[in-house]
Amino acid sequence: MNLLSSLEKVKGVGPKVAEQFADAGLMTVDDLINFLPRAHEDFSHVTRIIDIAPGKATIKARCEKIATRPVRRGLRITTATLADDSGKLQAVWFNQPYRETQLKSGDEFYFSGEFEFNYNRYQLTNPSAELVSAMPVQTDRVLPIYRALKGLKTPLVRKILAELRPLITMLPETLPNDIIKSEKLLSRSEAILAMHFPKALEDVEKARERLAFEELFELLLASQLNRQDNSKLEGWHIPFNQLVVKQFVDQLPFKLTNAQRIAVWEIIQDFGRKVPMNRLLQGDVGSGKTVVAGIAARQAAHSGFQTALMAPTEILATQHAETLQKLLSPFDVSVGLLTGSVKGMARKELYQAIKTGNVDVVVGTHALIQETVQFARLGFVVIDEQHRFGVAQRQELLKKSAHMPHLLAMTATPIPRSLALTVYGELDISILNELPAGRKPIKTKIWSPNSRAQLYELVDAEIGAGRQAYVICTLIDNNPDNELKSVQTEYKKLQNSVFKHRRIGLLHGKLKSDEKDAVMRQFADGQLDILVSTTVVEVGVDVPNATVMLIEDADRFGLSQLHQLRGRVGRSIHQSYCYLITSTSAKPSVRLKEVEKSNDGFYLAEVDLRLRGPGEIYGRSQHGALNLQIATLADTRLIARAQHQARAFVESDKNLLEYKQLAMRVQHYQRLTTLN
Ligand code: ADP
Ligand code: MG
Repeated sequence: MNLLSSLEKVKGVGPKVAEQFADAGLMTVDDLINFLPRAHEDFSHVTRIIDIAPGKATIKARCEKIATRPVRRGLRITTATLADDSGKLQAVWFNQPYRETQLKSGDEFYFSGEFEFNYNRYQLTNPSAELVSAMPVQTDRVLPIYRALKGLKTPLVRKILAELRPLITMLPETLPNDIIKSEKLLSRSEAILAMHFPKALEDVEKARERLAFEELFELLLASQLNRQDNSKLEGWHIPFNQLVVKQFVDQLPFKLTNAQRIAVWEIIQDFGRKVPMNRLLQGDVGSGKTVVAGIAARQAAHSGFQTALMAPTEILATQHAETLQKLLSPFDVSVGLLTGSVKGMARKELYQAIKTGNVDVVVGTHALIQETVQFARLGFVVIDEQHRFGVAQRQELLKKSAHMPHLLAMTATPIPRSLALTVYGELDISILNELPAGRKPIKTKIWSPNSRAQLYELVDAEIGAGRQAYVICTLIDNNPDNELKSVQTEYKKLQNSVFKHRRIGLLHGKLKSDEKDAVMRQFADGQLDILVSTTVVEVGVDVPNATVMLIEDADRFGLSQLHQLRGRVGRSIHQSYCYLITSTSAKPSVRLKEVEKSNDGFYLAEVDLRLRGPGEIYGRSQHGALNLQIATLADTRLIARAQHQARAFVESDKNLLEYKQLAMRVQHYQRLTTLN
């Protein structure tokens, strides 16, 4: 038997059990060995019955009397009197009648269970029981608790693992030896053994440290290697032209923030290097990322390079195209828009212009990555709201150039430092950490649905003062199965009652794209007072005159998503408001209170990471891919250690391929996280 043997080869695993394991995704011996406990309970101290105290307890006793009685349908209770030479106590089991057969022998057993007050007396509840031996599996030790997988009970997993124990002691090492030594880590086999068979709870801590370190090291090594791969690529040289940049900045209707200026400088510097830029531009909603990309596109165009800007939605692409058009047309830089709704001749002509280089900046949706789109000289790729795209989509776009183009990935979802180091370790990062001058912080308030009327008065007053409002609902149509608000009904309701005298628009994902555009345009042009919308407005949409947002059923949204939505207001010098309407009048959740309290996207992202894990932040396409079993991205100290070792590894003359398992896993992570 070896690690790759199927579980059926293991003693005690019949075809039925093997099938259960297989259903849970555990096929081989190696799979089960790596199926780590989710928790441990310390039952390692044997107490004399006379000394027993409430709580977890292990005793060494004989069974004097045992009987089972049916209590009602589906419930049979087995009670036993257990005795050692210091005293007696009662044990009780629910639906475990087999205990009678097991315990009648008169032999001595270990019993491990909870000693607690039940049915008017102290009892040992549902204890595990097994014959006294030198190596107990279910009792008298620090007991591992496994995730309950379909029909697989923890005692069974423990029993099978006990059979595999000799194999675990011989597990090969996966980390380089010098790292184990200098980080004072357990070996792989020691660590896995300590997870399944710890002698004391402290062993589990050491084991976790080792296994978590390994996971983080793999992740960090992958990003270091991606970084190294990038540095070997040859990119386009786009020289810095001070005059061009200055002229552009001078004609802007506003002054750049300091953070914007630094970001522009960093990008322009990267343009001048041989190695293609690989940069993440991170800035909270409203921090002004678009104009930064615009300046860089201007510089690229001046050197004869095309820019492609890919946005996740049609609304957003259209808006970017308009913004860039305004910014760039004074300099004779042409902007094209390629989305699904550009059809027929117009589309053919645009393809032709892109191919011949007649258009300098092409803004678009996924339509940009189609094969038919060929660029004359693509030098710069901008990906807006990059976490909305998968790796493959980004790669498709980058492939449309003879050399690797410079890449600027933009995101409004602030990335906690730990994630930036691990997942985005290969990227250089620019941060826009200040909002344009004169912006007033948005006032956010949780609002009970009971006092809707007052809220509508507030909204009406704002509209009276010339401002505009968003009303956001989760659903498009009403759903008889739940009570969440839909845009259709809210739209009708508002139109026919409180806001009869106002102009209301309706926006959702099921509209045809020209309908969407028309509504968005009306709202942006001030021809609508209220826009009732689903979360399609979540990403990027910019209507500075809108200063009020009502979010219905706010408790149904994630923290980061609420923050993104809220970012649609607060984009001008006027005071803005965001009202989080709860779906019931019950007490608002901790999450909602965090959004009410804080306007800081970085802070909220940290909270989100803590509450919901990295999937929400890292992006939908890779959701779940980073399934760290042991490590948490909140462990910054361990991350720093792993980071240090990953750098050292890359700089050393070690050959990754000599570490077979490490190499396999690192290559897997490299594919998952790379932007190129
Ligand atoms: P985001 O970072 O969320 O993508 P945008 O690029 O949409 O932000 O910019 C938000 C708004 O702020 C736009 O209307 C833009 O014209 C404006 N803006 C950008 N930079 C500045 C600045 N330095 N001063 C004032 N307004 C700015
Ligand atoms: Mg944006």
